[in-house]
Amino acid sequence: MARRIRLGIIGAGIAGLTLARTMADADCADVRIFDKSRGVGGRMATRRSDAGAFDHGAQYFTIRDERFRAALETARADGAIQPWKGAMVTLPEGDPAAQSATETTRYVGSPSMNALAKAMAAGLDIQTDAHVAAITGTPGQWFLQIGDRSEGPFDWVVAAAPAPQSASLLPDAFTHHAALAQVRMNACFTLMIRQTEDAGLPFAAARVDDPVIGWISRNNSKPGRGDEPCLVVNATAEWSDANLEEPLDDVRRSMLEALRGYVPISTSEAESAMIHRWRYANVERPAGQAFLLDDVSRLAACGDWCIVGRVEAAFLSAMALGDALKEILKAAP
Ligand SMILES: Cc1cc2nc3c(=O)[nH]c(=O)nc-3n(C[C@H](O)[C@H](O)[C@H](O)COP(=O)(O)OP(=O)(O)OC[C@H]3O[C@@H](n4cnc5c(N)ncnc54)[C@H](O)[C@@H]3O)c2cc1C
Repeated sequence: MARRIRLGIIGAGIAGLTLARTMADADCADVRIFDKSRGVGGRMATRRSDAGAFDHGAQYFTIRDERFRAALETARADGAIQPWKGAMVTLPEGDPAAQSATETTRYVGSPSMNALAKAMAAGLDIQTDAHVAAITGTPGQWFLQIGDRSEGPFDWVVAAAPAPQSASLLPDAFTHHAALAQVRMNACFTLMIRQTEDAGLPFAAARVDDPVIGWISRNNSKPGRGDEPCLVVNATAEWSDANLEEPLDDVRRSMLEALRGYVPISTSEAESAMIHRWRYANVERPAGQAFLLDDVSRLAACGDWCIVGRVEAAFLSAMALGDALKEILKAAP
């Protein structure tokens, strides 16, 4: 029988939730999750506003791994995830008419992107609005500093936040700081536009070969979103990194200008467009290891950045870490 541990997890994205589920299901840990956001899901996110709801983080996900497929079976049966059908095209720069279809089954949370995370979170002990400022204590007696309170003690703590945020939280005792430091993540600006009328675009989503914007999706083409036409537009990684600290109004203006090369946008639509800055969106250089674990300090880290910038990678990283932790607990006296 594996020893039962007190496990603290920082981050309720897909990685943190997957790890919590696998450890709780194996009945080998009392798990508590802390996330700084108002809800669960991390970058698999939905922005709600008067203008409607927008999937402003992950646009969709693919399923290649059988373990991932099996883990999603209940969510699929319950309708919390559904295939996103409709034409996915590529729009070459300056030639909005040219299109090429791509063939992959793409899935989305339904009725919004964070539906999967919400389903995974059911029954777990999760504190939201809980920004962990530091991990203090000693191995086996870790505490999480949140505002003026201290949560713990925990036998183990896992950081399931983007690599740079995990790096700043994990104490010096963690032996994998060098691996964390070599991870490179890109920023992404996301523009959200409620259209006053359907522009009749002949695609559900388009990859755009443009120096400023790289992606346009018709959010309402996803299942369960309703009919109100709305667009989600992502800037390219290179352009986002280069303009990361620019005023958001300037970023918004540049993205709208680029978008108008492909989609007609009226003045009133442009005026009500919202912008979001993701400081850590995608993974340019991953850690190249499925997870980082230090058995001596009893600290670990996982997330998409270990493997590749995809929802499925976040799941696989956390599953691999869960397997390793369970082995350690089995072997413990
Ligand atoms: C704009 C955009 C488009 C994308 N498109 C796609 C796509 O089409 N397909 C695809 O597969 N993937 C896509 N991705 C990537 C995908 O969203 C991620 O791979 C995946 O969601 C990562 O999950 P995660 O659990 O590793 O990290 P996250 O989802 O980032 O979760 C980390 C969590 O840690 C929390 N956190 C961070 N610091 C702290 C702290 N100090 N205290 C408490 N909590 C903290 C955060 O609030 C967050 O909830 C996209 C991402 C973005 C931003």
